[in-house]
Amino acid sequence: MKCPKCGFENPEGTLFCQECDWRVDYPYTPEKKRNPAVFSGLAVLLGIVTVLCAFVVGEGFAAAGIGAVGMVLSGYAIGVPRHVECDNKQLYTALAGLGIALNVVGFMYGLVLAVS
Ligand SMILES: [Zn+2]
Repeated sequence: MKCPKCGFENPEGTLFCQECDWRVDYPYTPEKKRNPAVFSGLAVLLGIVTVLCAFVVGEGFAAAGIGAVGMVLSGYAIGVPRHVECDNKQLYTALAGLGIALNVVGFMYGLVLAVS
């Protein structure tokens, strides 16, 4: 009985893998890998769009709206590198942090524009 999760060769008749406790008669599908580069990149990209909307275009409502989405996404993105196996964890965390900063600044200024 080869374990579908870890590949350990268990003796015949084993129900739970002796190596990782997986039920050997259950198929194993590895958790979908999230790519922190994608999330961090999106966080920064949205942040840049938000800041551009607020400071360059002067669209307060757009900046506040995109900034709100960007803040949520960046907040999520900053946690992704911690939960996946990847290189450059610090870089992606820093990028997501930058995304948060840009989105917050753009969002706040967008709100000021929208109400004035
Ligand atoms: Zn196993």
